[in-house]
Amino acid sequence: MAQKDDCIFCKIANHVIESDYVYEDDLVCAFRDNSPQAPVHVLVVPKDHYDNIVDGVPADVLAAMVHAVGEVVRICGIDKDGFRVIANTGAAAGQTVMHLHMHVLGGKKLGEGLI
Ligand code: C5P
Repeated sequence: MAQKDDCIFCKIANHVIESDYVYEDDLVCAFRDNSPQAPVHVLVVPKDHYDNIVDGVPADVLAAMVHAVGEVVRICGIDKDGFRVIANTGAAAGQTVMHLHMHVLGGKKLGEGLI
């Protein structure tokens, strides 16, 4: 799997379009959401294109994403207070960018419900 020409997150993850990056390694990068829903709202995305979390994502990429979540919460200082990780999957779940991403949200008291 590689990049997809018309995908905004492929462009951001591979620095074709620059963003406000928080963390990066060989497989993934993390950047601040441009419409933040919490004081800390960062997106963790793979550099290769997968439509969503069940699109045949290799185990090393999933592991790198989870590792990146840990780095993001430490770098952003929300590791102790608590945070939320969300991967909207499919239009009915509110996925608007069809490139796998995990939202990392924190920095305030979050709502207690799941939906
Ligand atoms: O889960 P969903 O697909 O709805 O999330 C997409 C997220 O990507 C939104 O929170 C939106 O603000 C963010 N976004 C962004 N930069 C873009 C396009 C979308 O941060 N250029």
